[in-house]
Amino acid sequence: MPASSIDEVGALLAAAESATGLSCPSCGSFHVAQVLGDNGGVSYVCTACGHSWS
Ligand SMILES: [Zn+2]
Repeated sequence: MPASSIDEVGALLAAAESATGLSCPSCGSFHVAQVLGDNGGVSYVCTACGHSWS
């Protein structure tokens, strides 16, 4: 995968992370992105360890 694509994803995740102010309950990282859940609700995903919760 081209590095430019990885950079774009990283930028999007970084923008999402800054809006949550949450820490991961699994690893404690603040690299948490807010994502839309299947039922229209909101879920969170840790970009450090991949743990997701809602
Ligand atoms: Zn985590």
